[in-house]
Amino acid sequence: MKKHLLFLGAPGAGKGTQAELLSKTSSYLHLSTGELLRQEIEMNTILGRQVKDIINRGELVSDELVLKIVKQNLDKDNKGWILDGYPRNLSQANSLNDVLTEINQPLEVVFYLDIPEEVLIKRLLLRGRKDDTEETIKTRVDIYKKTTEPLIQYFKDRSLLEYIDANRDLKIISSDIKQKMA
Ligand code: ADP
Repeated sequence: MKKHLLFLGAPGAGKGTQAELLSKTSSYLHLSTGELLRQEIEMNTILGRQVKDIINRGELVSDELVLKIVKQNLDKDNKGWILDGYPRNLSQANSLNDVLTEINQPLEVVFYLDIPEEVLIKRLLLRGRKDDTEETIKTRVDIYKKTTEPLIQYFKDRSLLEYIDANRDLKIISSDIKQKMA
């Protein structure tokens, strides 16, 4: 059973939902950079205050900052982990690779959750998080296409990519993922 997993996909593709479901049944650590950053904002920490406006505009937080958060949270665990929302660009992918080599926990599979753009925009508007306004969604989708989407090829080249049709019932997606983890 693979235990070092990554979810890749556009905002609204369902990465968080699937990662959460999987962490409940597997005891793997669910590491969502978006969630961790939102917690910092919630707790009004120095870091939270630094990133609040950036996140609410739908832009990316600096690579250094997210790397720090990922490192802090990865180290504690050796039972398995699910990364969600990281990496989001090539530089983050290379940093992640360095960190994982260092802790000797290589990534085993990347689930790419594929979803048509019009479906995800509808989903995000329904979700209604603070950064789910029409304008912010546009920014996030644009950034995703420009900087995150190239990672599909990056992980394909490393034979890590598993394609998941994310435009289906969430339980069906979840059993599809479990099958591909075996
Ligand atoms: P979504 O997947 O719907 O975009 P997330 O919860 O993953 O939502 O992320 C919310 C926001 O947190 C992003 O729009 C971005 O501002 C910030 N963020 C999360 N992960 C990263 C990352 N790896 N690099 C830079 N910024 C990030």
